[in-house]
Amino acid sequence: MAKERIVIIGGDAAGMSAAAKIRRVEPKRDILVLERTDYTSYSACGMPYYIGGLIDEVDSLIVRTPEVFRDKYAIDVRTRHEVVAIDPKAQRVTIRNDQRTEISEPFDQLLIATGARPYCPDVQNVGAEGVFGLSTLASGIRVQQFIKQEKPQKAVVVGGGYIGLEMAEALVRQNLEVSLVQRGREVMETLDPDMGRLVSQALRDIGVNLYLSEELQAFESANGRVKAVITDQRTLPADLVILGMGVRPNSELAEAAGIELGVKNAIKVDERMRTGTENIWAAGDCVATLHRVTGRPFYVALGTVANKQGLVAGTNLSGGSAIFPGVVGTAVSKICKIEVARTGLQEKELLELGADYVTATIKAKTRAGYYPGAGTITVKMTAEKGTGRLLGAQIVGMEGAAKRIDIVATALTAGMTVANLVDLDLSYAPPFSPVWDPVQTAARQLLNNL
Ligand SMILES: Cc1cc2nc3c(=O)[nH]c(=O)nc-3n(C[C@H](O)[C@H](O)[C@H](O)COP(=O)(O)OP(=O)(O)OC[C@H]3O[C@@H](n4cnc5c(N)ncnc54)[C@H](O)[C@@H]3O)c2cc1C
Repeated sequence: MAKERIVIIGGDAAGMSAAAKIRRVEPKRDILVLERTDYTSYSACGMPYYIGGLIDEVDSLIVRTPEVFRDKYAIDVRTRHEVVAIDPKAQRVTIRNDQRTEISEPFDQLLIATGARPYCPDVQNVGAEGVFGLSTLASGIRVQQFIKQEKPQKAVVVGGGYIGLEMAEALVRQNLEVSLVQRGREVMETLDPDMGRLVSQALRDIGVNLYLSEELQAFESANGRVKAVITDQRTLPADLVILGMGVRPNSELAEAAGIELGVKNAIKVDERMRTGTENIWAAGDCVATLHRVTGRPFYVALGTVANKQGLVAGTNLSGGSAIFPGVVGTAVSKICKIEVARTGLQEKELLELGADYVTATIKAKTRAGYYPGAGTITVKMTAEKGTGRLLGAQIVGMEGAAKRIDIVATALTAGMTVANLVDLDLSYAPPFSPVWDPVQTAARQLLNNL
């Protein structure tokens, strides 16, 4: 095994989790990592805080540099090396380096960990200077430098997903006038609109101009630089645009090599992270996974999932046995003062599935009402009619609200009913929660409604 060469495409969460795991198990294994940017093992999740000025040093977003991987882990990490083709039969990858020279390297096992990229429809002037999407650390640094050097005054964020919202807040912190255009009725469409409305309000409260139920049509540019965002209802002047319309998996390399794709064009893998092509594995934002509540294939691009999948791939590639069982749709974010969390299925998804469900929404406090710092928290919970099986929850509230979603995520994973959730022995002391935790208050209300 130790002589077999492993090639990994992509040097961030999934790729480097796998590489580090393999190295821990097999000190002599030949591991080659190919990364097209300058960076490895960075926290893309921290970029809005860096751009917003909460974090001064970009280096603090880098967990391990290529040098550390080379010197301490003896992993052959080559940055500025882009894989441009995979030949599964010959077991070789074609690489283009920063001199634009093409070379070919053999592999015994290949892990594709190419991540995802921001989505943007193919509208006029999408390539204008000043229009940015965020994915890699390099892309975040470009935005930060643009703000520092070009001193833009007016920013438009197109799309109300969590990255767009975190960036809107970051740009407000940098004293830009920020507008946000969103196609849906409210921002954050992974929440039901009644919960999304609370997030929309939080953005308005910090001065973001929201244009809801409005669609991007084109960008206006002059001398190659963005000047405005044109929607179906207005023209918004802009000297900086951030794309926040979700992501698409970087799966074209795999597709061109004949590797099977699945839902949303993400690479299809089994629970051990094997693709349908022999000796080729994939993990992270480029793959599809299983939704454990619906039992159906699902695409989600999150760092937590990518790290776990990388570890699973690395374990299996180094002779161990591990599986990634899927997700239940859990995500958290902090937008302005409020914390936002969701897990399971939202009403839109339940309607698509034709599920018979009941919901309950409660408002409570994050701490005992009399304890300093108690803030509001809204919890919406959903269960299946008849069986009482828990189907999902959404939480919007002040400090301390969001991580409560992990209780519901655990309950969903265990296939619990709402009654089971009411019975849980959750902790209580005034600085942390009311006597009845808001999650259990919502569960009790839902039980009544059922
Ligand atoms: C602004 C922002 C905020 C986020 N916040 C959160 C959060 O709060 N919580 C959370 O869970 N997730 C968050 N995420 C998502 C998280 O960062 C990703 O899910 C995670 O980075 C995915 O890891 P990955 O290794 O699959 O892909 P990536 O991190 O995208 O890494 C893929 C790497 O592959 C390289 N690559 C691609 N193609 C090639 C090629 N052909 N040849 C060589 N190299 C290639 C890329 O340069 C890249 O470095 C956030 C993302 C962004 C952009």
